[in-house]
Amino acid sequence: MESITEMQQYADQLRADSKKIGFVPTMGYLHQGHLSLVDIAGENCDTVVLSIFVNPAQFGPNEDLDSYPRNEGKDIELAREKGVDVVFLPSADTIYPDGYQSYVELAHLPNHLCGLSRPVFFKGITTVVTQLFHIVKPHVAVFGEKDFQQLATIRRMVKDLKFDIEVMGGPIVREPDGLAMSSRNAYLKDHQRKAALSLSRSIQHARQMVADGTTDATSIIQQVTAILSEFAENTIDYVSICDTETMDPVSSIEDSALLAIAVNLNKIRLIDNTVLNRQG
Ligand code: AMP
Repeated sequence: MESITEMQQYADQLRADSKKIGFVPTMGYLHQGHLSLVDIAGENCDTVVLSIFVNPAQFGPNEDLDSYPRNEGKDIELAREKGVDVVFLPSADTIYPDGYQSYVELAHLPNHLCGLSRPVFFKGITTVVTQLFHIVKPHVAVFGEKDFQQLATIRRMVKDLKFDIEVMGGPIVREPDGLAMSSRNAYLKDHQRKAALSLSRSIQHARQMVADGTTDATSIIQQVTAILSEFAENTIDYVSICDTETMDPVSSIEDSALLAIAVNLNKIRLIDNTVLNRQG
């Protein structure tokens, strides 16, 4: 389905029929990470809508909007196999028609982590997700913990703007070797993929440090940075230990804290994270 009006009418009909709508927004090039969110939506709702929209508003001028991997035919097939009821594929012209000028922006959350090196990223996301919420009219929206700051941002926006939507998070789905699944993994050459494994390896190391009693954030950040730096391919954007809701840095792990990493391999940006729990 591509038409916004058609999608809205379909959502109205579902609601009139007392059907619970679950929504999984994506940029396509689907993998098991996306499909795990479909499972969560399906377990909690009657009808699952998955959107595919490579959102121009969240890409900066030097980012990979034009080269972002796309395969709509395969995506539709995978979504259908997984039991998605509606694949919603709006065009950029209908989401951002001529004269478009309305943006949704949070005051603080974007001033952390990915928002620092991607200044328009979260404004683009909150704007498009707001639009998609108005079009798909979901009861439940499911986002991945892989993009932890995005999930925190959407939760905050839904709370602040009183959207009557339950936001659910799905755990990170990884390749057998530990690499967090991402559409961008398709770009990785063999030597870069080896380097990319250092993200999940460094996260495992940090978890072990906490399990062994380390609570000092600086020590953990230093060791994670050292593991990532073993590979010349990795250019670290950030290694941060921060509050799981505000993304403000913390100096020690009191109860739990987020360890978040972003690394650029040439022009390929990879992120990964884990929640470090003192209680294991
Ligand atoms: P994207 O297509 O990259 O915008 O991602 C769409 C949704 O899938 C977002 O909520 C992501 O957090 C989620 N997602 C992407 N990769 C993974 C993964 N490896 N595990 C779980 N969720 C993921």
